[in-house]
Amino acid sequence: MAHPDDPELSCGGSIAVWAKKDRVYNVIVSCGEKGTWDRKASPLLVAEEREKEAKEAAQYLGVKRVIFLRHPDGELSSIKTLKLELAALIRRLKPYTIVTHDPWSRYFHPDHRATAHAVIEGIMIARDWHFYPFLLEIGLKPHRPKELLLGITEKANYVVDITKTCDKKIKAIGMHRSQLGQLPDWQKRVCNRVKNDGASAGYKFGEGFYKMHV
Ligand SMILES: [Zn+2]
Repeated sequence: MAHPDDPELSCGGSIAVWAKKDRVYNVIVSCGEKGTWDRKASPLLVAEEREKEAKEAAQYLGVKRVIFLRHPDGELSSIKTLKLELAALIRRLKPYTIVTHDPWSRYFHPDHRATAHAVIEGIMIARDWHFYPFLLEIGLKPHRPKELLLGITEKANYVVDITKTCDKKIKAIGMHRSQLGQLPDWQKRVCNRVKNDGASAGYKFGEGFYKMHV
């Protein structure tokens, strides 16, 4: 995902469900160093603070490890190596499921769209033998994930029941303390979304995704 708080906002309840029996890794492309309304704040210190918050929230939800790629906030569409970095990580971590943003959502942040497109291109590079032969030379053989989930979507075709983990999602979002002032009414908005997503599948609370088989 693009920024440190995106995993919790888009799929924190699902992460808590998945982490009970599977390994979950969070890959964060940018540390979100421009994510402050304080003109006097140092972007370097904001990045450091946000990494700490992301680690704390991830640990609370049961994530095995958070990997920071540390690309510049707001500039992700111009990072030419991003698809290759993601492909290398896919070959290394061998995920069954990959979760990212829905690049076609109307509510996208440009970084979300750029990250999602890089993930899709990264999956293609990761799964086929003839892309970037140097990956084989450094021991990274092709890996084909089974499914891709696009989160915060208007076209959900798959909903994870987060009735038992919704409280954890809310608490984990709250751990991104540096961001809460810039997320007015976040509790109300998050609650409305998980209620609506859940209702569409007959659950009290849910997180909806557009699920694609890779
Ligand atoms: Zn974001």
